[in-house]
Amino acid sequence: MNISDGELMEGILERGGYEIVRAPEDADVVLVNTCAIREHAETRVLGRVSQLNGLKRERPDMVIGVTGCMAQRLGETLLDQAPYVDLVMGPDGYRGLPDTLGRLERASSSRSRPRGLADPDTGAIRVAPGGPGRIVERRSKRGPQLAVLQLDMDENYQGLEQRRAIGPSAWVPIQRGCDHRCTYCIVPYVRGGEKNRSAIDVLAEIRALAEQGVTEVTLLGQTVNSYVWNGVGFPALLRDVARVDGIRRVRFTSPHPNDVTEELVSVMADEPAVCEQLHLPAQAGNDRTLKRMLRRYTVESLLDKVDMVRTAVPDVALSTDIIVAFPGESDDEFRDTLELMRAVRFDEAYTYKYSARDGTPATRLPQADFVDPLEAQARLEQLIEVSRAIQSEINAGEVGRVEEVLVEGEGRDDGQIRGRTRRNKVVVFDGSRDRLGDYTHTLLKRTTGATFVGSEVGAKEPATVAV
Ligand code: SF4
Repeated sequence: MNISDGELMEGILERGGYEIVRAPEDADVVLVNTCAIREHAETRVLGRVSQLNGLKRERPDMVIGVTGCMAQRLGETLLDQAPYVDLVMGPDGYRGLPDTLGRLERASSSRSRPRGLADPDTGAIRVAPGGPGRIVERRSKRGPQLAVLQLDMDENYQGLEQRRAIGPSAWVPIQRGCDHRCTYCIVPYVRGGEKNRSAIDVLAEIRALAEQGVTEVTLLGQTVNSYVWNGVGFPALLRDVARVDGIRRVRFTSPHPNDVTEELVSVMADEPAVCEQLHLPAQAGNDRTLKRMLRRYTVESLLDKVDMVRTAVPDVALSTDIIVAFPGESDDEFRDTLELMRAVRFDEAYTYKYSARDGTPATRLPQADFVDPLEAQARLEQLIEVSRAIQSEINAGEVGRVEEVLVEGEGRDDGQIRGRTRRNKVVVFDGSRDRLGDYTHTLLKRTTGATFVGSEVGAKEPATVAV
Protein backbone atom coordinates (compact mmCIF):
# COMPACT_ATOMS: atom_id res chain seq x y z
CA MET A 1 0.00 0.00 0.00
CA ASN A 2 2.85 2.36 0.76
CA ILE A 3 4.51 1.75 -2.60
CA SER A 4 1.18 2.51 -4.17
CA ASP A 5 0.72 5.66 -2.07
CA GLY A 6 4.20 6.79 -3.11
CA GLU A 7 3.15 6.41 -6.75
CA LEU A 8 -0.03 8.34 -5.98
CA MET A 9 1.88 11.26 -4.44
CA GLU A 10 4.28 11.29 -7.37
CA GLY A 11 1.33 11.45 -9.77
CA ILE A 12 -0.29 14.30 -7.82
CA LEU A 13 2.95 16.25 -7.64
CA GLU A 14 3.81 15.74 -11.28
CA ARG A 15 0.44 17.10 -12.33
CA GLY A 16 1.03 19.93 -9.87
CA GLY A 17 4.08 20.99 -11.88
CA TYR A 18 6.77 19.08 -10.01
CA GLU A 19 9.49 17.04 -11.56
CA ILE A 20 10.31 13.74 -9.85
CA VAL A 21 14.04 13.28 -9.32
CA ARG A 22 15.91 10.22 -8.16
CA ALA A 23 18.13 11.48 -5.36
CA PRO A 24 17.35 13.67 -2.34
CA GLU A 25 20.45 15.70 -3.22
CA ASP A 26 18.69 16.86 -6.41
CA ALA A 27 15.33 17.61 -4.79
CA ASP A 28 13.77 20.76 -3.43
CA VAL A 29 11.11 18.73 -1.65
CA VAL A 30 11.79 15.35 -0.07
CA LEU A 31 8.86 13.35 1.24
CA VAL A 32 9.49 10.34 3.46
CA ASN A 33 6.46 8.07 3.24
CA THR A 34 5.98 6.07 6.40
CA CYS A 35 4.40 3.07 8.07
CA ALA A 36 3.19 3.03 11.67
CA ILE A 37 2.56 -0.68 12.10
CA ARG A 38 5.68 -1.30 14.15
CA GLU A 39 7.90 0.81 16.34
CA HIS A 40 11.01 -0.30 14.50
CA ALA A 41 9.76 1.20 11.21
CA GLU A 42 9.10 4.52 12.94
CA THR A 43 12.55 4.60 14.53
CA ARG A 44 14.10 4.14 11.10
CA VAL A 45 12.08 7.04 9.73
CA LEU A 46 13.39 9.33 12.46
CA GLY A 47 16.92 8.27 11.51
CA ARG A 48 16.20 8.96 7.85
CA VAL A 49 14.82 12.47 8.39
CA SER A 50 17.75 13.23 10.66
CA GLN A 51 20.07 12.29 7.76
CA LEU A 52 18.07 14.55 5.46
CA ASN A 53 18.59 17.36 7.93
CA GLY A 54 22.28 17.12 7.04
CA LEU A 55 21.35 18.05 3.46
CA LYS A 56 19.00 20.76 4.68
CA ARG A 57 21.80 22.43 6.61
CA GLU A 58 23.62 22.91 3.32
CA ARG A 59 20.41 23.94 1.51
CA PRO A 60 18.02 25.59 3.98
CA ASP A 61 15.36 25.99 1.23
CA MET A 62 14.86 22.26 1.02
CA VAL A 63 11.44 21.09 2.28
CA ILE A 64 11.38 17.88 4.31
CA GLY A 65 7.98 16.23 4.61
CA VAL A 66 6.89 13.11 6.47
CA THR A 67 3.77 11.51 5.00
CA GLY A 68 1.67 8.42 5.66
CA CYS A 69 0.59 6.52 8.74
CA MET A 70 3.40 7.52 11.10
CA ALA A 71 2.77 11.17 10.20
CA GLN A 72 -0.93 10.71 10.98
CA ARG A 73 -0.17 8.93 14.23
CA LEU A 74 2.35 11.40 15.61
CA GLY A 75 0.88 14.55 14.09
CA GLU A 76 2.29 17.80 15.39
CA THR A 77 4.41 15.99 17.97
CA LEU A 78 6.60 14.86 15.09
CA LEU A 79 7.40 18.53 14.44
CA ASP A 80 8.63 18.76 18.05
CA GLN A 81 10.66 15.56 17.80
CA ALA A 82 12.22 16.53 14.48
CA PRO A 83 12.06 20.35 14.28
CA TYR A 84 13.72 20.37 10.85
CA VAL A 85 10.65 18.65 9.37
CA ASP A 86 8.52 21.21 7.51
CA LEU A 87 5.47 19.13 6.69
CA VAL A 88 3.60 16.28 8.37
CA MET A 89 0.80 14.80 6.26
CA GLY A 90 -1.50 11.85 6.87
CA PRO A 91 -2.86 9.60 4.10
CA ASP A 92 -6.00 11.64 3.42
CA GLY A 93 -4.06 14.82 2.71
CA TYR A 94 -2.36 13.70 -0.50
CA ARG A 95 -4.90 15.23 -2.87
CA GLY A 96 -3.98 18.68 -1.61
CA LEU A 97 -0.22 18.11 -1.62
CA PRO A 98 0.72 20.77 -4.21
CA ASP A 99 -1.56 23.27 -2.49
CA THR A 100 -0.08 22.46 0.89
CA LEU A 101 3.47 22.83 -0.39
CA GLY A 102 2.41 26.11 -1.95
CA ARG A 103 0.98 27.25 1.37
CA LEU A 104 4.18 26.26 3.12
CA GLU A 105 6.21 28.17 0.59
CA ARG A 106 3.98 31.24 0.81
CA ALA A 107 4.21 31.17 4.60
CA SER A 108 7.97 31.24 4.38
CA SER A 109 9.35 34.71 4.08
CA SER A 110 12.94 33.50 3.96
CA ARG A 111 12.61 30.73 1.41
CA SER A 112 12.88 31.09 -2.31
CA ARG A 113 10.16 29.33 -4.25
CA PRO A 114 10.94 25.65 -4.64
CA ARG A 115 11.62 24.66 -8.24
CA GLY A 116 8.62 23.13 -9.95
CA LEU A 117 6.05 24.67 -7.65
CA ALA A 118 4.97 27.32 -10.10
CA ASP A 119 2.68 26.60 -13.02
CA PRO A 120 5.03 26.37 -16.01
CA ASP A 121 2.76 28.59 -18.15
CA THR A 122 1.46 31.24 -15.81
CA GLY A 123 3.95 31.21 -12.96
CA ALA A 124 1.00 30.94 -10.56
CA ILE A 125 0.98 28.49 -7.71
CA ARG A 126 -1.39 25.68 -8.53
CA VAL A 127 -4.11 24.64 -6.15
CA ALA A 128 -5.18 21.02 -6.36
CA PRO A 129 -8.93 20.36 -6.32
CA GLY A 130 -10.39 19.29 -3.03
CA GLY A 131 -8.08 21.31 -0.82
CA PRO A 132 -5.68 20.11 1.76
CA GLY A 133 -7.96 19.20 4.67
CA ARG A 134 -7.28 20.35 8.26
CA ILE A 135 -3.98 22.12 8.48
CA VAL A 136 -2.18 23.00 11.67
CA GLU A 137 0.20 25.82 10.88
CA ARG A 138 3.10 26.74 13.13
CA ARG A 139 6.14 28.90 12.89
CA SER A 140 9.38 27.75 14.43
CA LYS A 141 12.61 29.72 14.39
CA ARG A 142 13.56 27.69 11.31
CA GLY A 143 10.42 28.74 9.40
CA PRO A 144 6.82 27.65 8.92
CA GLN A 145 5.70 24.10 9.65
CA LEU A 146 2.45 22.45 8.60
CA ALA A 147 0.61 19.36 9.80
CA VAL A 148 -2.24 18.03 7.61
CA LEU A 149 -4.01 15.47 9.70
CA GLN A 150 -7.66 15.19 8.79
CA LEU A 151 -9.10 11.75 8.16
CA ASP A 152 -11.83 12.23 5.61
CA MET A 153 -14.47 9.55 4.97
CA ASP A 154 -15.28 11.29 1.66
CA GLU A 155 -11.70 11.06 0.41
CA ASN A 156 -11.80 7.98 -1.81
CA TYR A 157 -8.79 8.98 -3.96
CA GLN A 158 -11.12 9.04 -6.95
CA GLY A 159 -9.74 10.74 -10.04
CA LEU A 160 -6.15 10.73 -8.81
CA GLU A 161 -3.67 9.01 -11.07
CA GLN A 162 -0.62 7.17 -9.85
CA ARG A 163 2.73 7.74 -11.49
CA ARG A 164 3.69 4.15 -12.05
CA ALA A 165 7.06 2.80 -13.01
CA ILE A 166 6.87 1.40 -16.55
CA GLY A 167 6.71 -2.34 -16.27
CA PRO A 168 4.48 -5.38 -16.55
CA SER A 169 2.99 -5.19 -13.03
CA ALA A 170 0.84 -2.59 -11.30
CA TRP A 171 -0.55 -2.12 -7.81
CA VAL A 172 -4.17 -0.99 -7.90
CA PRO A 173 -5.69 0.23 -4.62
CA ILE A 174 -9.41 -0.56 -4.51
CA GLN A 175 -9.95 0.16 -0.83
CA ARG A 176 -8.47 2.31 1.93
CA GLY A 177 -8.87 2.16 5.68
CA CYS A 178 -10.35 -0.61 7.77
CA ASP A 179 -13.55 -1.23 9.73
CA HIS A 180 -11.98 -3.87 11.97
CA ARG A 181 -10.45 -3.02 15.30
CA CYS A 182 -7.84 -5.70 15.92
CA THR A 183 -6.58 -4.70 19.33
CA TYR A 184 -2.88 -4.52 18.37
CA CYS A 185 -3.38 -2.58 15.15
CA ILE A 186 -2.92 1.14 14.53
CA VAL A 187 -4.25 1.10 10.96
CA PRO A 188 -7.89 2.11 11.64
CA TYR A 189 -6.66 5.08 13.68
CA VAL A 190 -4.27 6.38 11.04
CA ARG A 191 -6.15 5.44 7.88
CA GLY A 192 -9.72 5.70 9.11
CA GLY A 193 -12.68 3.50 8.23
CA GLU A 194 -13.05 1.37 5.13
CA LYS A 195 -13.58 3.30 1.91
CA ASN A 196 -14.05 1.50 -1.37
CA ARG A 197 -13.43 2.88 -4.83
CA SER A 198 -16.02 2.67 -7.57
CA ALA A 199 -15.80 -0.65 -9.42
CA ILE A 200 -16.35 1.25 -12.66
CA ASP A 201 -13.26 3.36 -12.03
CA VAL A 202 -11.17 0.40 -10.92
CA LEU A 203 -12.02 -1.48 -14.10
CA ALA A 204 -11.42 1.56 -16.29
CA GLU A 205 -8.02 2.01 -14.68
CA ILE A 206 -7.10 -1.63 -15.22
CA ARG A 207 -8.25 -1.55 -18.85
CA ALA A 208 -6.07 1.50 -19.40
CA LEU A 209 -3.14 -0.24 -17.72
CA ALA A 210 -3.64 -3.29 -19.95
CA GLU A 211 -3.64 -1.05 -23.02
CA GLN A 212 -0.29 0.31 -21.86
CA GLY A 213 1.08 -3.24 -21.71
CA VAL A 214 0.57 -4.10 -18.03
CA THR A 215 -0.21 -7.80 -17.72
CA GLU A 216 -0.25 -8.33 -13.94
CA VAL A 217 -2.27 -6.38 -11.39
CA THR A 218 -2.42 -6.67 -7.62
CA LEU A 219 -5.61 -5.34 -6.05
CA LEU A 220 -4.86 -3.63 -2.76
CA GLY A 221 -6.88 -3.00 0.36
CA GLN A 222 -6.49 -3.31 4.10
CA THR A 223 -9.13 -6.05 4.08
CA VAL A 224 -9.34 -6.23 0.33
CA ASN A 225 -11.93 -9.00 0.16
CA SER A 226 -14.47 -7.08 2.23
CA TYR A 227 -14.68 -4.66 -0.73
CA VAL A 228 -18.20 -3.75 -1.72
CA TRP A 229 -19.35 -0.89 -3.90
CA ASN A 230 -22.93 -0.32 -5.02
CA GLY A 231 -23.73 -3.99 -4.50
CA VAL A 232 -20.59 -5.18 -6.31
CA GLY A 233 -18.69 -7.41 -3.91
CA PHE A 234 -15.06 -8.43 -4.11
CA PRO A 235 -15.61 -11.78 -5.90
CA ALA A 236 -17.55 -10.03 -8.69
CA LEU A 237 -14.91 -7.34 -9.03
CA LEU A 238 -12.14 -9.94 -9.05
CA ARG A 239 -13.92 -11.86 -11.82
CA ASP A 240 -14.33 -8.72 -13.92
CA VAL A 241 -10.69 -7.73 -13.42
CA ALA A 242 -9.55 -11.23 -14.36
CA ARG A 243 -11.47 -10.92 -17.63
CA VAL A 244 -9.91 -7.65 -18.76
CA ASP A 245 -8.22 -8.21 -22.12
CA GLY A 246 -4.46 -8.38 -21.73
CA ILE A 247 -4.43 -9.08 -17.97
CA ARG A 248 -2.78 -12.45 -17.43
CA ARG A 249 -2.23 -12.40 -13.69
CA VAL A 250 -4.37 -11.02 -10.88
CA ARG A 251 -3.37 -11.06 -7.22
CA PHE A 252 -4.91 -9.36 -4.21
CA THR A 253 -3.71 -8.44 -0.75
CA SER A 254 -4.45 -8.47 2.14
CA PRO A 255 -7.63 -10.45 2.58
CA HIS A 256 -9.31 -10.97 5.95
CA PRO A 257 -9.95 -14.67 6.64
CA ASN A 258 -13.60 -14.01 7.47
CA ASP A 259 -14.24 -12.69 3.97
CA VAL A 260 -12.70 -15.69 2.26
CA THR A 261 -16.05 -17.04 1.05
CA GLU A 262 -17.11 -19.90 -1.20
CA GLU A 263 -17.96 -17.34 -3.85
CA LEU A 264 -14.47 -15.85 -3.71
CA VAL A 265 -12.81 -19.23 -3.78
CA SER A 266 -14.88 -20.30 -6.77
CA VAL A 267 -13.76 -17.19 -8.68
CA MET A 268 -10.16 -18.06 -7.77
CA ALA A 269 -10.71 -21.58 -9.07
CA ASP A 270 -12.59 -20.62 -12.24
CA GLU A 271 -10.77 -17.57 -13.54
CA PRO A 272 -7.51 -18.53 -15.26
CA ALA A 273 -5.96 -15.10 -14.63
CA VAL A 274 -6.36 -15.27 -10.85
CA CYS A 275 -3.09 -16.61 -9.48
CA GLU A 276 -2.94 -19.75 -7.35
CA GLN A 277 -1.82 -17.80 -4.32
CA LEU A 278 -3.56 -16.55 -1.19
CA HIS A 279 -2.27 -14.55 1.73
CA LEU A 280 -4.25 -15.59 4.79
CA PRO A 281 -3.15 -13.55 7.83
CA ALA A 282 -3.67 -15.92 10.77
CA GLN A 283 -1.85 -13.75 13.38
CA ALA A 284 -2.06 -16.51 16.03
CA GLY A 285 -2.96 -20.15 16.42
CA ASN A 286 -4.77 -20.00 19.74
CA ASP A 287 -8.42 -19.10 20.28
CA ARG A 288 -7.92 -17.09 23.47
CA THR A 289 -5.20 -15.01 21.82
CA LEU A 290 -7.28 -14.56 18.67
CA LYS A 291 -10.21 -13.43 20.81
CA ARG A 292 -8.10 -10.90 22.67
CA MET A 293 -6.68 -9.71 19.36
CA LEU A 294 -10.31 -9.27 18.22
CA ARG A 295 -9.61 -11.18 15.05
CA ARG A 296 -13.21 -12.46 14.98
CA TYR A 297 -12.39 -16.05 13.95
CA THR A 298 -11.25 -19.20 15.67
CA VAL A 299 -8.49 -21.62 14.79
CA GLU A 300 -11.12 -24.11 13.67
CA SER A 301 -12.84 -21.66 11.35
CA LEU A 302 -9.45 -20.62 9.93
CA LEU A 303 -8.59 -24.24 9.23
CA ASP A 304 -11.98 -24.63 7.53
CA LYS A 305 -11.07 -21.73 5.25
CA VAL A 306 -7.75 -23.35 4.44
CA ASP A 307 -9.55 -26.60 3.55
CA MET A 308 -12.07 -24.76 1.43
CA VAL A 309 -9.34 -22.96 -0.54
CA ARG A 310 -7.20 -26.08 -1.00
CA THR A 311 -10.19 -28.12 -2.14
CA ALA A 312 -11.10 -25.57 -4.80
CA VAL A 313 -7.53 -24.62 -5.79
CA PRO A 314 -5.42 -27.67 -4.92
CA ASP A 315 -2.11 -26.16 -5.98
CA VAL A 316 -2.63 -22.89 -4.11
CA ALA A 317 0.36 -21.38 -2.29
CA LEU A 318 -0.61 -19.94 1.09
CA SER A 319 1.21 -17.27 3.03
CA THR A 320 0.43 -15.72 6.39
CA ASP A 321 1.29 -13.10 9.00
CA ILE A 322 1.96 -14.15 12.59
CA ILE A 323 2.46 -12.00 15.69
CA VAL A 324 4.19 -13.60 18.68
CA ALA A 325 4.19 -12.41 22.28
CA PHE A 326 0.87 -10.61 22.14
CA PRO A 327 0.31 -9.41 25.74
CA GLY A 328 -0.85 -12.30 27.86
CA GLU A 329 0.24 -15.00 25.39
CA SER A 330 1.35 -17.98 27.48
CA ASP A 331 3.96 -20.55 26.49
CA ASP A 332 1.21 -23.03 25.71
CA GLU A 333 -0.66 -20.52 23.61
CA PHE A 334 2.49 -19.75 21.67
CA ARG A 335 2.98 -23.48 21.11
CA ASP A 336 -0.54 -23.56 19.62
CA THR A 337 0.67 -21.06 17.04
CA LEU A 338 3.57 -23.36 16.17
CA GLU A 339 1.03 -26.17 15.87
CA LEU A 340 -1.05 -24.10 13.47
CA MET A 341 2.05 -23.55 11.33
CA ARG A 342 2.71 -27.28 11.25
CA ALA A 343 -0.94 -28.08 10.54
CA VAL A 344 -1.39 -25.62 7.67
CA ARG A 345 2.17 -25.63 6.29
CA PHE A 346 2.18 -22.14 4.84
CA ASP A 347 4.46 -21.59 1.87
CA GLU A 348 5.65 -18.36 3.45
CA ALA A 349 5.17 -16.63 6.80
CA TYR A 350 5.77 -13.00 7.70
CA THR A 351 6.60 -13.10 11.37
CA TYR A 352 6.65 -10.31 13.95
CA LYS A 353 7.01 -9.66 17.63
CA TYR A 354 4.10 -7.77 19.10
CA SER A 355 4.87 -4.04 18.91
CA ALA A 356 2.88 -1.76 21.24
CA ARG A 357 1.27 1.12 19.36
CA ASP A 358 0.01 4.02 21.45
CA GLY A 359 -3.74 4.41 21.32
CA THR A 360 -4.50 0.80 20.45
CA PRO A 361 -6.56 -1.25 22.94
CA ALA A 362 -3.83 -3.84 23.55
CA THR A 363 -1.59 -1.21 25.13
CA ARG A 364 -4.16 -0.89 27.93
CA LEU A 365 -3.85 -4.54 28.93
CA PRO A 366 -2.30 -5.05 32.40
CA GLN A 367 1.43 -4.34 32.39
CA ALA A 368 2.06 -7.73 33.96
CA ASP A 369 0.70 -9.33 30.77
CA PHE A 370 3.40 -7.88 28.56
CA VAL A 371 5.80 -10.60 27.51
CA ASP A 372 9.42 -10.14 28.51
CA PRO A 373 11.38 -8.87 25.46
CA LEU A 374 13.91 -11.72 25.66
CA GLU A 375 11.11 -14.25 25.77
CA ALA A 376 9.38 -12.49 22.86
CA GLN A 377 12.60 -12.67 20.85
CA ALA A 378 13.02 -16.35 21.68
CA ARG A 379 9.46 -17.07 20.50
CA LEU A 380 10.05 -15.17 17.29
CA GLU A 381 13.21 -17.12 16.59
CA GLN A 382 11.44 -20.39 17.25
CA LEU A 383 8.60 -19.42 14.94
CA ILE A 384 11.01 -18.37 12.19
CA GLU A 385 12.85 -21.68 12.52
CA VAL A 386 9.63 -23.66 12.19
CA SER A 387 8.24 -21.60 9.31
CA ARG A 388 11.53 -21.63 7.39
CA ALA A 389 11.88 -25.37 7.79
CA ILE A 390 8.35 -25.84 6.43
CA GLN A 391 9.04 -23.46 3.56
CA SER A 392 12.24 -25.30 2.68
CA GLU A 393 10.48 -28.66 2.72
CA ILE A 394 7.64 -27.39 0.52
CA ASN A 395 10.02 -25.77 -1.94
CA ALA A 396 12.31 -28.81 -2.05
CA GLY A 397 9.23 -30.82 -3.05
CA GLU A 398 8.64 -28.41 -5.94
CA VAL A 399 12.09 -28.85 -7.46
CA GLY A 400 11.62 -30.44 -10.89
CA ARG A 401 8.40 -28.57 -11.65
CA VAL A 402 8.14 -26.37 -14.73
CA GLU A 403 6.51 -23.04 -13.87
CA GLU A 404 5.45 -20.02 -15.85
CA VAL A 405 7.54 -17.05 -14.73
CA LEU A 406 7.06 -13.33 -15.28
CA VAL A 407 10.46 -11.64 -15.44
CA GLU A 408 10.58 -8.84 -12.84
CA GLY A 409 14.18 -7.69 -12.75
CA GLU A 410 17.83 -8.53 -12.48
CA GLY A 411 19.15 -11.25 -10.22
CA ARG A 412 21.90 -10.63 -7.69
CA ASP A 413 24.64 -12.04 -9.92
CA ASP A 414 25.67 -10.68 -13.31
CA GLY A 415 23.84 -12.30 -16.18
CA GLN A 416 20.95 -13.45 -14.00
CA ILE A 417 17.35 -12.35 -13.99
CA ARG A 418 14.61 -12.78 -11.43
CA GLY A 419 11.02 -13.75 -12.02
CA ARG A 420 7.98 -14.83 -10.11
CA THR A 421 5.72 -17.81 -10.64
CA ARG A 422 1.94 -17.62 -10.51
CA ARG A 423 2.22 -19.10 -7.02
CA ASN A 424 4.38 -16.13 -6.02
CA LYS A 425 7.65 -18.00 -5.79
CA VAL A 426 10.82 -16.21 -6.83
CA VAL A 427 13.00 -17.91 -9.47
CA VAL A 428 16.45 -16.75 -10.54
CA PHE A 429 17.82 -17.88 -13.90
CA ASP A 430 20.24 -16.85 -16.66
CA GLY A 431 19.10 -13.97 -18.83
CA SER A 432 19.59 -10.33 -19.67
CA ARG A 433 17.79 -7.35 -18.19
CA ASP A 434 16.02 -6.56 -21.47
CA ARG A 435 13.81 -9.55 -20.68
CA LEU A 436 11.88 -7.57 -18.05
CA GLY A 437 8.17 -8.18 -18.56
CA ASP A 438 8.62 -11.42 -20.55
CA TYR A 439 6.67 -14.52 -19.69
CA THR A 440 8.64 -17.71 -19.93
CA HIS A 441 8.74 -21.20 -18.46
CA THR A 442 11.46 -22.34 -16.10
CA LEU A 443 12.45 -25.68 -14.75
CA LEU A 444 12.95 -25.31 -10.97
CA LYS A 445 16.37 -26.90 -10.57
CA ARG A 446 17.11 -26.25 -6.91
CA THR A 447 15.97 -24.16 -3.98
CA THR A 448 17.83 -22.01 -1.51
CA GLY A 449 14.93 -22.51 0.91
CA ALA A 450 12.99 -19.38 0.12
CA THR A 451 13.74 -18.96 -3.60
CA PHE A 452 14.52 -21.14 -6.60
CA VAL A 453 17.29 -21.39 -9.13
CA GLY A 454 15.86 -22.36 -12.50
CA SER A 455 16.58 -22.67 -16.17
CA GLU A 456 14.39 -21.69 -19.08
CA VAL A 457 12.56 -24.33 -21.03
CA GLY A 458 10.26 -24.07 -24.05
CA ALA A 459 8.91 -21.01 -25.77
CA LYS A 460 9.63 -17.50 -24.56
CA GLU A 461 6.99 -14.78 -24.75
CA PRO A 462 8.38 -11.28 -25.08
CA ALA A 463 7.02 -8.47 -22.94
CA THR A 464 3.97 -6.63 -24.26
CA VAL A 465 5.34 -3.34 -22.96
CA ALA A 466 8.65 -1.69 -23.69
CA VAL A 467 10.45 -1.75 -20.34
S1 SF4 B 1 -8.07 -6.17 9.78
FE1 SF4 B 1 -7.15 -5.81 11.79
S2 SF4 B 1 -4.94 -6.04 11.39
FE2 SF4 B 1 -5.89 -5.72 9.40
S3 SF4 B 1 -5.79 -3.50 9.07
FE3 SF4 B 1 -7.76 -3.92 9.99
S4 SF4 B 1 -7.48 -3.61 12.20
FE4 SF4 B 1 -5.44 -3.85 11.27
